[in-house]
Amino acid sequence: MNKSFKFKKKYGQNFLTNKKLIEDMVNTVSLTKDDLVIEIGPGGGVLTEELLKKTKVLAYEIDLDLKEELEEKFKDKELKIIFDDFLKRNIKKDIDDIDYKKLYVISNIPYYITTPIILKIIEEKIEVEKIVIMVQKELGERFTATPGSRDYGSISVLLNYYFDLRKCFVVGRNNFVPRPKVDSVVISLTKKEKEKVDNEELFFKLIRDAFRFKRKTLRNNLKDYDLEKIEQVLKKYNYDLTVRSEKLDYKIFVEIANALNK
Ligand code: SAH
Repeated sequence: MNKSFKFKKKYGQNFLTNKKLIEDMVNTVSLTKDDLVIEIGPGGGVLTEELLKKTKVLAYEIDLDLKEELEEKFKDKELKIIFDDFLKRNIKKDIDDIDYKKLYVISNIPYYITTPIILKIIEEKIEVEKIVIMVQKELGERFTATPGSRDYGSISVLLNYYFDLRKCFVVGRNNFVPRPKVDSVVISLTKKEKEKVDNEELFFKLIRDAFRFKRKTLRNNLKDYDLEKIEQVLKKYNYDLTVRSEKLDYKIFVEIANALNK
C-alpha cells in the first residue's frame, strides 16, 4: 500500500495480508477464462490480483483515495473498476456489455454492509452461480444456522431458500491490517434449484413477521394472517401454532407462504 494511505473505519477497511488465505478463497471456485467475477471493495487489490490470474473482474470501490494506486497496479489487466458505492449501482446494467459464461461474486467485503450486499444480489435477481465472501464470524454462524439453533433467524431462512450455504474456513483477526476486533469466516452461497414460492413478496413478509419476536409463538407473531391455513401446513409436520419460528425449516415457510397465497 501507498505509505500515505489512511485506513478508513467508516468504509470498513481491514485489508487482508495473508497470501495463502487469499489463494484458498479463490480456489473455492473453479474459474475459467470465460467467467466474470464481481468483487466488492478491492481495497489494495490483493484478492483482485489473484482473481485476475484466473479470469476477468468487475470491481466496485467506494474510496477514491485508492483510485490512482489501483489503476496503476492493474493497468493492462482484464479489470474494470467502478469507483462508486456498490449498493447504489444498477448491477445488471453494469454487467450488460461484458461477455461471460458464468458469474460469481468473490470478495472480502466491507462488513458494515454484509447483509445489504447479499439482499441486493437477491432482490435484483442477479444470476450468480456462487458467492464466496468473508464475513464476521458471528454473522457467518447466523447465516449458516440450522433450525433449532440459537442463531437461526429470518436471514437463515431466506438464504437457505436461495442458496446452499457452506462455511469454508475461519480467518483469524491477525490476518488483516488494521487488525479488527473479531475473527472472520469465509462462506459460500451456491445457487440452488428452489422450491417454488408463488409470491416472493408474501414469503419475505411472512418470514420477517414470523421472526419478529423470537420468544413468541407463531400464533402470536402471525396473528394477522389466516391461522387456519397455517395450522394445516404445520400439522403435516407434527407442529401446531404454539411452535416458535426458530424450529421451522425454510421449506415449511415456503409451504405456508404458498398456502396463504391461495
Ligand atoms: N478486499 C480488500 C479490502 C477489504 S476492506 C482486502 O481483502 O484486502 C473493504 C473494502 O470495501 C475497502 O476497500 C472499502 O473502501 C470498500 N468499500 C466500503 N464500502 C463500500 C461500498 N459501499 N461499495 C464499494 N466498496 C466499498
